[in-house]
Amino acid sequence: MSVRSAAEHEEHFRQVYAVTFEPLPAYALRRVKQPADAADSVAADLPASRDRKGVLAYIDLLLRSATMRPDTGNLTSRLAAAGSAVLLGLAGAAIAAGPASAADRHPTPGAAGLGDRLYPLLGNGGYDVQNYDLSIFYPKKDPAQQVRGDVTITAVATQSLSRFDLDFGGDGVGKVTVNGRPAAFSRSGDELVITPRWPLANHRRFTVTVSGFTATPIAPNASSPAGFVKTPDGTVMAGQPDQSHQLFPSNDHPRDMATYTIRMTAPVGWTATANGQPIRTTQHNGYVTSTYREFNPMASELIQLAVGDFVTYNRAPVNGIPIRDVVPRRLADKLLPEAADERNEVAWMESKVGRYPFERYGSLVIDGNLGFALETQSLSLYDTGFFSLPTVIINPILTHELAHQWFGDSVAPWVWSDVWQNEGHATWYEVLYAYETGTLPQYAGVSTLDEYYKRAYANGDKWRTRYGPVAHPLRSDSIWDVFNPNVYDGGALVLFALRQKIGVSNFERLERAWVAKYRGESASTQDFIALASRVSGQDLRSFLNDWLYGAKTPPMPGHPDWTTTAVASSSVAPALHR
Ligand SMILES: [Zn+2]
Repeated sequence: MSVRSAAEHEEHFRQVYAVTFEPLPAYALRRVKQPADAADSVAADLPASRDRKGVLAYIDLLLRSATMRPDTGNLTSRLAAAGSAVLLGLAGAAIAAGPASAADRHPTPGAAGLGDRLYPLLGNGGYDVQNYDLSIFYPKKDPAQQVRGDVTITAVATQSLSRFDLDFGGDGVGKVTVNGRPAAFSRSGDELVITPRWPLANHRRFTVTVSGFTATPIAPNASSPAGFVKTPDGTVMAGQPDQSHQLFPSNDHPRDMATYTIRMTAPVGWTATANGQPIRTTQHNGYVTSTYREFNPMASELIQLAVGDFVTYNRAPVNGIPIRDVVPRRLADKLLPEAADERNEVAWMESKVGRYPFERYGSLVIDGNLGFALETQSLSLYDTGFFSLPTVIINPILTHELAHQWFGDSVAPWVWSDVWQNEGHATWYEVLYAYETGTLPQYAGVSTLDEYYKRAYANGDKWRTRYGPVAHPLRSDSIWDVFNPNVYDGGALVLFALRQKIGVSNFERLERAWVAKYRGESASTQDFIALASRVSGQDLRSFLNDWLYGAKTPPMPGHPDWTTTAVASSSVAPALHR
């Protein structure tokens, strides 16, 4: 979209207010990622809320809405009607950005990459995205077709910018505006380089709209990252770790989480499902527009748009969490029973780490061989190859992707070297679920957690040599260099060692504390080490740094007899799931 009508803004506000503003007091506004943001001084005095970006995005929406209306004077009363001092305080700060510093007078280009060692050009420097408003148009009922879209990104400059980049690898770009004014742009590889008419001041909020961009889906390919994927029934997203920008312009790095409005327009007869809450469906001239809102901060890699001849199946909620699955219409009878255990898994995960972090959950199954499963936020992605396995195999992996909703999605990695946080934890709960449901022998060929991790320990040194330390993958030439066995079983092995070291009770408190403290944020390996030390009351820096960054596998606490010389070559197969 480019510019919405005032009526649409009003409608958007009304729905947002009804769904999101009311629960705000329960949220926790805390760790500010944007040190120079104008709202900081106010935010510091406010009760904690984790959803700061969401709050700011809506304030921005309100402000933009207000400028389009003759009765702007009632903005304050509308905010007051929201009943939240948080909103009023942040709105005031958003309006009253501070004076420019000396550095601000010398605008410079934003960096082409966010500085990730493994993916140097992923993400961009110089701004922090608050919200994406994304629209994609599917002209025909054709899964292979080119689609076109518009995106409006609301961001805050973190330096004075003469120009900046978005990540985009799609086919074409129509036009670009910054703060409503036409902006020059060029393309260089997967960088969309944008030069606004006037420099953007540090700390200031701005909007960039990319209109009429186009993208064509690719066939799934298990040996490389997928991105925008076609199937016999429609298209889906599998963007991890660096492919979501093949569909839409974005700051495509998990450090820059943001809220999303996702609007999909497709011919009548196709269905469209995205992350988060369904907001509304409208029909016009043979097309249906489905609008979803992801209220929780989301990494771009976790976006999901499932558009095609799919059906949605609603299961009974679990602890109030709606559960819905999305499958190809022609395969529904076969696939839906296979995902049935996910309700038990949601209840089980909540018993382990606390409240599920998103609006809803469910499984999306596509017909094809993607080669992996993927934790797209609030709607995990699987393929029919995986769903043809026995349920004793399916269920722990369903639990793995579910666990990612806390570990990897809600708490995102700061850099991709932190991916062990995602995969180590997801593997930990995958194995624990198999163990506690009595299926570990069929799943992994062992009977106890000790046996499972003793076997992983035996591979420890070989994995470190081949792939690098757990928190420092050596290469990113292939996706499997990063998503390697040493971040899956090796990462879970670190958690086992930590549990041996600090005890089960401290470990379980740490897990709950981690997902609560960093909910809706990116967090680093050093953040994890610091929290583990605090929760356990022990200085774990030396212990965990050895386990996470050492070239050799340290001794296992409580199991001095375990050795890391017994190596089985069969155990280095690429991971089955992500
Ligand atoms: Zn995973």
